[in-house]
Amino acid sequence: MDLEDTLLMMPGPVSVAPRVLRAMSKPMINHRSAEFAGIYTDCREILSNIFKTDNDIFLLSGSGTAGMEAAVGSVVGKGDKVIAIENGKFGERFKDIAALYADVVPAVFEWGLPIDLELIKEKLEEGAKAITLVHNETSTGILNPAAEIGKLARKHDALFIMDGVTSIGGDDVRVDEWGVDIAVVGSQKCLAAPPGLSIVSVSEKAFEAMKEVTKRPYYNDLLAYKKSGDKPKPETPYTPAIPLFYALQEALHIIKEEGMDARIKRHRILSEAVRAAVAELNIEMFPQLNESSHYSNTISAMKAPAGIEGEDIKNDMRKQGVIIAGGQERLKNKIFRIGCMGNVTSRDVLSTIQQLEIVLN
Ligand code: PLP
Repeated sequence: MDLEDTLLMMPGPVSVAPRVLRAMSKPMINHRSAEFAGIYTDCREILSNIFKTDNDIFLLSGSGTAGMEAAVGSVVGKGDKVIAIENGKFGERFKDIAALYADVVPAVFEWGLPIDLELIKEKLEEGAKAITLVHNETSTGILNPAAEIGKLARKHDALFIMDGVTSIGGDDVRVDEWGVDIAVVGSQKCLAAPPGLSIVSVSEKAFEAMKEVTKRPYYNDLLAYKKSGDKPKPETPYTPAIPLFYALQEALHIIKEEGMDARIKRHRILSEAVRAAVAELNIEMFPQLNESSHYSNTISAMKAPAGIEGEDIKNDMRKQGVIIAGGQERLKNKIFRIGCMGNVTSRDVLSTIQQLEIVLN
């Protein structure tokens, strides 16, 4: 396969711009220097705008899952109750991580089905220190009701920890307005940087909670990130993945140049185009929606048509140089997924749909 002539339409990693790739070849610098502090500060400022928050922002060397673990592990400990909402694979992952650090109260819905807010309300009424939600459940293509969960969490004084790994940078995320105490994104998704960094925003309330937790993760301790990030020359507690910081900074400048509103609009239009095109091909969308959930604007999950396995569609597309995703775990072969993340263009979507039509006929 010609890697330089491949169309990546999967839910991350996504294609990165040549200028982002070039940024990674710059010389190494001291990570405790004014140069590094400048890059870190610049990234944090642009990210604040993308997250729509005044909360502290930290860049962790590690993929999105590192950010998920940092978030949960830093604020809860054994004996603390964490309501873990699951309606897909990444909700399940949050639940598994929470179980390592605290006492989990599972709120499990069938993968692909919407969340029942009444049930979440009942669980919160019984008391919990934190609640976890995956905003954009990549495994099923459903956009979960983050604003509503935020409102409920605030009312019941629970910390709201949100996985925005595949929504932040591509969809409308309002960390402060929704009351998200910790939000997480991965560099390789809508931010269109290479994989390897996760970015988290942390509220004052979350920092207060951390001070009471005695067994926080060592490497991904968010209080350690706070201490280093608050220095006059901000830094990270341990040696960061410097080339990835170079790349992320460049990718963030691309976002700034496009503007977040335009970027969100582009993601919406292209995802709508995918949905309209597959409907024309008589393919059904996989998620079932209710009034508070929506189709994802960054990843579309479709049912594999009768008689065709999702993996076959994925593999046949791959042979044509278009990389899409199949279903994960229990959804393997049942669905296939087309990502519209990062710097995807209408030409990319048209090529993907054209190939899909050929593969299905
Ligand atoms: N959360 C969501 C919603 C994701 O889509 C993913 C990855 O696809 C992750 C978490 C995990 O991220 P990573 O693979 O970067 O650790």
